[in-house]
Amino acid sequence: MPEDLTTAQVRVDADLCEGHALCIQLAPEVFDLSDDEVAGAAEAEGPWDRDTWDSIKSAVDACPRQAISLINTSTKGQ
Ligand code: SF4
Repeated sequence: MPEDLTTAQVRVDADLCEGHALCIQLAPEVFDLSDDEVAGAAEAEGPWDRDTWDSIKSAVDACPRQAISLINTSTKGQ
């Protein structure tokens, strides 16, 4: 059975982020840039609709610092 991660929590590691803002271009409804030019997840909790979820996954793949984590908030299979 495929794991449904559309409820995953999105987190940005501020220590890794260099503020390239690729994530913001790809998913502006989810990511935001703070005054000190570190990205954060303005909207961090799912459930995400399909389009937003695809944008989040694109942002994860595009981040040159691998600073974006998706945390499975479901405990299923733990
Ligand atoms: S793409 Fe990655 S490094 Fe760039 S702003 Fe977003 S989280 Fe930070």
